[in-house]
Amino acid sequence: MGDGIFETVKAVAGRPFALTRHLDRLTRSARGLGLPDPDLDEVRRACAAVLEANPVPLGRLRLTYTGGHGPLGSDRGDKGPTLVVALGETARRPDTTAVVTVPWTRNERGALTGLKTTSYAENVVALARAHEHGATEALFGNTVGALCEGTGSNVFVVLDGEIHTPPLHSGCLAGITRRLVAEWTGAKETDLPLDVLREADEIFLTSTLRDVQAVHRVDDRELSAAPGPVTAKAMRIFDERSAADIDP
Ligand code: PLP
Repeated sequence: MGDGIFETVKAVAGRPFALTRHLDRLTRSARGLGLPDPDLDEVRRACAAVLEANPVPLGRLRLTYTGGHGPLGSDRGDKGPTLVVALGETARRPDTTAVVTVPWTRNERGALTGLKTTSYAENVVALARAHEHGATEALFGNTVGALCEGTGSNVFVVLDGEIHTPPLHSGCLAGITRRLVAEWTGAKETDLPLDVLREADEIFLTSTLRDVQAVHRVDDRELSAAPGPVTAKAMRIFDERSAADIDP
């Protein structure tokens, strides 16, 4: 019925990064959709088993949990929720990227707002628009014209040396990388107009697979020295802190 949720977890040398935070969000998303709480011990065991069977230097674990009936990947009989854990190899993303803004809005007050559901078709369409323009991410405003997030990332801007990111009430996902970067750099949650992208000194994205990634072009605007000094520092802090603690 489409009532699915998911998580993408980075695995570094066979160890999942920030797994506790991902499992917390999985549970929150399940509750938001009215699915039974996932059995987190089972999810942890499944992740460990998949990682052990497929050693890759840098991996992306995809956890999908649905209310559906099919036995696919499930040992719960033919009626219960279904958990699938898959692993793909991935590579470190480039330090900078281009983004576009899209004319569609994120609904900051929808039933699914803030839940990591598998209903990502709108994101897929927006991402295709980005790819048409040589970019790797599309950024959404919300229904009141505030900056919100990307299709699979959160967005940060630097204004007068200070780092800002939209608050959760903008409709963005509570990104795990967003949270860690905000804690580790002191970034502030600020309501920002979408237009801030035209004047911000620096812009960067955060996500599980991008980590901290500087933006060197937004629509037609080139940001000459990306990553700028504040973004470069945030990247360094994130790399150091995340290397020191696998489950921060
Ligand atoms: N926003 C959306 C819509 C996402 O799908 C993701 C990716 O999971 C993020 C933001 C970034 O979140 P995280 O840092 O937890 O990967």
